[in-house]
This record gives sequence, structure tokens and C-alpha cells, in this order.
Amino acid sequence: VVEDESKIARFLELELKHEGYEVEIAFDGRSGLERVEKGGIHLIILDLMLPLMSGIEVCRRIRKFSDVPIIMLTAKDDISDKVTGLDSGADDYVTKPFAIEELLARIRVALKRKKQAENDANKDTLTAGKLVLSKLQHKVTYDGEEIPLSKKEYDLLLFLMENKGIVLDREKLIEKVWGYDFIGDTNVTDVYIRYLRSKIDQHYGVSFIRTIRGVGYIFEDNDE
Ligand code: CA
Repeated sequence: VVEDESKIARFLELELKHEGYEVEIAFDGRSGLERVEKGGIHLIILDLMLPLMSGIEVCRRIRKFSDVPIIMLTAKDDISDKVTGLDSGADDYVTKPFAIEELLARIRVALKRKKQAENDANKDTLTAGKLVLSKLQHKVTYDGEEIPLSKKEYDLLLFLMENKGIVLDREKLIEKVWGYDFIGDTNVTDVYIRYLRSKIDQHYGVSFIRTIRGVGYIFEDNDE
């Protein structure tokens, strides 16, 4: 909580602690910013009118290094304050005087949204040790080095990584990677597994893809 009016700050501290949150208070913009820079803050309730540094400026500076949720408190019922607040990177605002229930609800929404965003970001990226597959960038790297893969190699690796630890038989791989209408030998999977191994396992001296004799393959995270 960054708020210079100690009455409001104490009230917020009491109410938020009652809700089970851990609360720290800064009474001016500069010390609020300094506290956020130290890390470990999950949400900021930021007053707009603050001594030493305005809430807008604090918000702008935080946004240069963090996407922590920020809820702004605006004293005036002035639309331009709200717009400036949101423009400077705040996630939401509450106009003073506010009902604590409304602020609590907005805190819950902001935290939930942040968590969802993190989940989405995680879903975009699959990792196994130093091997990273980014779906968004359609790119695979090992220890930061890009691995050149053909479309089918990429599709196969993606399916293997999405099913990490699960034994996949050749028919399943054909169905999911090549499609139902694939006509040809299921040995094509063996060929592509060999390509992937030469580009990843053998190239980097790791063993992600293990053969299950007579069945198929399993992708394992064996990279220490
Ligand atoms: Ca103030």
C-alpha cells in the first residue's frame, strides 16, 4: 500500500490483513517505488496524489521492470486522472471514498488475471531441462541455441513434449502428428525420431527420447 494519508493506510492495512494478505505500507512515492524494486510484492495499491513522487510516476517506473498488478486510488472523481492512471500502466482504479468490499473484489480480480496470464505464458512454453519449445515463436532451443527443425520434426517434438512421461505407440504418433489420412508406413515415425535424436539427443549428449521396444517412444526429462 502506497498511501500518504496515514488514516487510510492504516485502515487498508487492517482490512487487508483481516482478509489474510500480508501488508506493507509506504507513505510516499519514492519509498514505495524503492520497496517494489526490492521484489516480493504481488500487488500494489497506489495512491495517485503522493509526496516526493506522484502515483503516476511510480506506476510508470514500476512498469519498466515489472508487471505486478497495480490498483490506483484516485481522490478526485476526475475522468482524466483515471485515464492517466491506466495509461501509465495501472491495471485498475478505485475512486475515493471507496467501499472496502469493492477494493477487495478488484484485488481478487487483478490477482486472478495475473495468475491466468502466467498460466497462459507457461502453456506457450514447454521445457525439459535446457530444452525449450516456444509455441508462440515456433522455435526450439537448447541452452539458448536454436535447433533448426523441419515442420514435421517440430510437430513430433511438440507432441512428445506435451506427453512427457507417457509411452506413445507409433499409431498414436502417426494419428496425432501426420493425421488420420496418412497413407504409408508407420516406420516414418522411426525415421523422424532418428532425425530428432541426431539434432537433439546426440548433438547435445542428452537422452530425451527413449525407445520402448515393440511399442513406441517415450519423452523423458533426463537433462540435469
Ligand atoms: Ca494522497
